Amino acid sequence: MPFLARTKILLTLLGVALMSGGVFLWVRDSDEASEAQFRNSQALYAEVPATASSTADALATSTANMPVPILVYHIVRPAYPTDSRAVTALAHTPQVFDAEMKYLGDAGYRVTTFVALEAHLRDGAPLPANPVIISFDDGWSDQFTYAFPILEKYHYPATFFVFTNPIGHHGFLSWNDLRVMLAAGMTIGSHTRSHPFLTKITDPARLWDEIDGSKVTLERNLGIAVNEFAYPFGQYDPAIIRLVEKAGYQAARGDALSRNAAAPTLSQLYMLGALNAPTTTAAFMLRFPQR
Ligand SMILES: [Zn+2]
Repeated sequence: MPFLARTKILLTLLGVALMSGGVFLWVRDSDEASEAQFRNSQALYAEVPATASSTADALATSTANMPVPILVYHIVRPAYPTDSRAVTALAHTPQVFDAEMKYLGDAGYRVTTFVALEAHLRDGAPLPANPVIISFDDGWSDQFTYAFPILEKYHYPATFFVFTNPIGHHGFLSWNDLRVMLAAGMTIGSHTRSHPFLTKITDPARLWDEIDGSKVTLERNLGIAVNEFAYPFGQYDPAIIRLVEKAGYQAARGDALSRNAAAPTLSQLYMLGALNAPTTTAAFMLRFPQR
């Protein structure tokens, strides 16, 4: 083979290796973690329709009529040019996240917790005026790196719903991250073991393990009671709600697109609706008008 042709092939192979992540052996640990998270998040959110959050945004322009809006954040980190549409629709830069947190306080909202909401719905305990609950899903390590310091800066409590299988793996929160956040007043909730579509699981033992086993694992490793649950992809049905209650959770959160398939007699505490946090401050301000 002529030298030039061989060189061209080698250069092409090198380019493919660079693009496919072959160089990550040489990068710093934090970049490696980010890359792992990037790959993980593309895979997890591939199942989420890219239009999900924009459709939800169109359906409800303001939270003015919601008694207690529950915000859901997923990814808080600098953007990658290669982020998929599904990821971009769920991702906040640290700057936007900080601006949204600052705006909430400036606009007259008071950040409260699921525990306060539970006491309110069960016993009529008073809530602060203009309450809002902040939650995070899926346990990405960026939530510790970027979002947690901003929450601390504003003295806001938040609940982190983690699924237990990837805890401690590259790109995900570690047990130590969870302990540090707990010590700072954050709450840890369960988001199952493997983040499945619960409504598609036909094996009762597996379903129970996703709901109850994840709770037990979190409680044993963290030495706390885990009282809140978030349904992966916001999917649930009456049978799943009964299992969540049976496992001892005090409340469970769906999402903006949750199927409201539950019988009306079941406690609304196990069908809490939520909204994906708008990814621009302009949209966020429309959702949360000045109080
Ligand atoms: Zn999730």
